[in-house]
Amino acid sequence: MKITFLGTSSGLPTKERNVSGIALRFDQSSDWMLFDCGEATQHQLLKTPYSLPKLSHIFITHLHGDHCFGLFGLLATRSLNNAQEPISIIGPVGIKKLLESVFKITQTHLRFEIDINEIDFQNTKFEIPQAHIEAIPLEHSIPSYAFVIQENEKPGKFKVELAKEKGIPSGPIYGKLKRGEKVMLPNGEILNGNDFIGEPITGRKIIIAGDNKTPDLLLPYLKNCNLLIHEANYTEKVKALVKDDFFHSTARDVAIVAQKSRIPNLILTHFSARFSLEYSRARKFSIDDVLQEALAEYSGNCFLAKDLETFNINRNGDIERK
Ligand SMILES: [Zn+2]
Repeated sequence: MKITFLGTSSGLPTKERNVSGIALRFDQSSDWMLFDCGEATQHQLLKTPYSLPKLSHIFITHLHGDHCFGLFGLLATRSLNNAQEPISIIGPVGIKKLLESVFKITQTHLRFEIDINEIDFQNTKFEIPQAHIEAIPLEHSIPSYAFVIQENEKPGKFKVELAKEKGIPSGPIYGKLKRGEKVMLPNGEILNGNDFIGEPITGRKIIIAGDNKTPDLLLPYLKNCNLLIHEANYTEKVKALVKDDFFHSTARDVAIVAQKSRIPNLILTHFSARFSLEYSRARKFSIDDVLQEALAEYSGNCFLAKDLETFNINRNGDIERK
């Protein structure tokens, strides 16, 4: 499974960071999914291997502009790319009206169907071919969600050694046993395919969270989770300087929850523009402060996302920065 950060800045773009967008592709799949679509997400995609016609699902965490203003241009370009395959869009209530209004007023006619699913109390669970995805409500100034992505189980491995012990030659019988079918050997012995298949392999579980003031809300879902991707808009020092309540988390808030739940991997993103290089040069704030603050609370693998950076999550859930 690969995850590429298309934008890691909160609110507004900086020279180094665009606004929110995350691409996710499962192994052996040419289709991919997008989580949030800030303005200019389509420009960022031009610098990656992800192609718009292969985009199958878009999940929007919340309807603040830095998470959804890129939708209109991206969908219009997908149409100009001659994409015919339908696309599913999942997001908070209001997303249907937003898209329909913009396309009506701008007379944009897409060449593909859009299936829009609005998240509400009854509608929180979504199936994609490779996984089950659940939307969890967070605390923000407007409805905001985290997406819990639970990959489907894979069938257990075929026990070749056991088949060899039984004297079964490799060939069509192997195929039947692998499918769990019953097979009669020439000596009359009946074999049950299920005895030749190991335990099912649990799928990977990751959480991609939207803007959120209370990371504790995710605690019930972090069990057996391989990776949490969460905003860290501020450090405690910056939060103290910002008078208004912006309904965001500090690196410390998120790190405490990550430590409590003992998840092995944490990627922080959605950083305030105060951590941009220009500010860093003036020595006011440094992006390194965010990492140091998180590491003071969390002993797992902690990464700060950068634009256009890809992480590989292998079958065991281990993470490698590409
Ligand atoms: Zn935001």
